[in-house]
Order: sequence, then structure tokens, then C-alpha cells
Amino acid sequence: MSVVNNVAALDPVAPQLAWSDTPFASLRSVRTDAWARLPAGYVRSAIHLSSWPDDDKLTACTVPRCVRYFVKVHGRQEFCRPSCGNRARAARFCHRHRADSGR
Ligand SMILES: [Zn+2]
Repeated sequence: MSVVNNVAALDPVAPQLAWSDTPFASLRSVRTDAWARLPAGYVRSAIHLSSWPDDDKLTACTVPRCVRYFVKVHGRQEFCRPSCGNRARAARFCHRHRADSGR
């Protein structure tokens, strides 16, 4: 266990808040050495996911090619962001339109 914590501590970070269409949290690294930042980032993510208190609400986004996970705010939520919902609706529309035109 201490190895995991030591690797996570290789890269001290500071939380940052950004705002586009929704609030988005990120971590700003203090170090510039990518060989220390990369394993520390992976281990931090693993620690965060394995200690998530409400793991039944943590789910993967259903949009193809989206690799994000998110916490469900309500039971029917399928997408990590509104932009993923828009991509899914556009893909369904194109699929229906192609099926109606007989192609
Ligand atoms: Zn997504």
C-alpha cells in the first residue's frame, strides 16, 4: 500500500476549476517531469476510483468513443456531458434518416 501512496506523491497537484458549459475540475501539476507525472496520475486515478463512496452511481458514458466516467445525478442519465448527449441524438437522427431513405 505504501508503494501506491509513494507513487501518487511523486507529483503534488493543485485542484483547478474551469468553466465551459459546465463546471470542470482538473488538477494542475507542480512538476514538469512527465516521467514522474504519468505514473502518479494513473495511481491517483486508481485511488480515487477505488475509494469512491457511491460506486453504483459511477458509470461510463454510453457515447461511442467517449472514454469518460461520471456520477449519475438521476437514474436515467446516460451521458457525461451535454455535448455527448447532442452527439448521441445526432447519431440517432442520422441512423433513422438513413433507414427511412432505404439506404
Ligand atoms: Zn461522454
